[in-house]
Amino acid sequence: KKVVAMSNIHKRYDGQQIETHALQGVSLEIMQGEFVAITGPSGCGKSTLLSIMGLMDSATEGEYHIADINTSNLKVDQRTQIRNEHIGYVFQSFNLIDNLTVFENIALPLEHRNVKKTQIKQRVEEVLTQVDMLHRQNYRPNQLSGGQQQRIAIARALVGKPDLILVDEPTGNLDSKNGDQVMLLLEQLNKAGSTIVMVTHDSRYSRCASRQIQLLDGQIVTEQNTMQQVQGV
Ligand code: ADP
Ligand code: ADP
Repeated sequence: KKVVAMSNIHKRYDGQQIETHALQGVSLEIMQGEFVAITGPSGCGKSTLLSIMGLMDSATEGEYHIADINTSNLKVDQRTQIRNEHIGYVFQSFNLIDNLTVFENIALPLEHRNVKKTQIKQRVEEVLTQVDMLHRQNYRPNQLSGGQQQRIAIARALVGKPDLILVDEPTGNLDSKNGDQVMLLLEQLNKAGSTIVMVTHDSRYSRCASRQIQLLDGQIVTEQNTMQQVQGV
């Protein structure tokens, strides 16, 4: 099953004097069960690509299908709904809500979907067990280490059973011990069936992925361990 299909994606940012052409014709497909790392130097377009994939931003040109849904010409609330249903997002800076407990942070996406309380409890405990943090469910994020907070953020991304988990520099704010733990967790989740796309500049970690996509100046330059054919432009 194809989770992501991007065709000739361009992204231009209008500046006051100059226009930045951040993505210059990116085409790629990602199949269910893949673990893809997107690498490349600062400014090459990694974050832009991830935010378009996550429907946080839209392309200037090109087509993007997620789970066979064409995302062109969607209204804002439709995009939000598709994002909530199909995508889990993990940020470098965790983005947890400090005045909610761990349990409440993870429950939030399900509450927005009007899931029943008993089902929410069951599912939150399930993902907390998966990230080995059930014993911290009543803590606040600021009572936890960075590595623990990132594991909570991963649990929140998982809770709605998304088709695609997008991860932006997950180890960027962590020391190497915590970084290794988070990467090990992502590998475990992928083995358990999650499709993951991760942006990282750390080559130690990109090697954990089953496929590496390297960007340079808004274009895909090389691919390693390729299981799917990806067209250049
Ligand atoms: P990376 O994540 O690889 O560092 P980005 O996707 O953040 O790269 O940025 C790609 C290019 O687009 C850069 O030149 C950056 O300055 C520019 N850019 C990113 N976001 C914006 C924005 N919101 N407005 C204007 N330019 C942007
Ligand atoms: P782990 O190995 O599970 O990531 P750590 O060894 O980093 O945990 O931390 C051990 C304990 O210390 C944690 O259970 C956490 O409650 C507490 N702790 C760690 N860092 C902080 C912090 N910055 N603020 C408050 N408590 C912390």
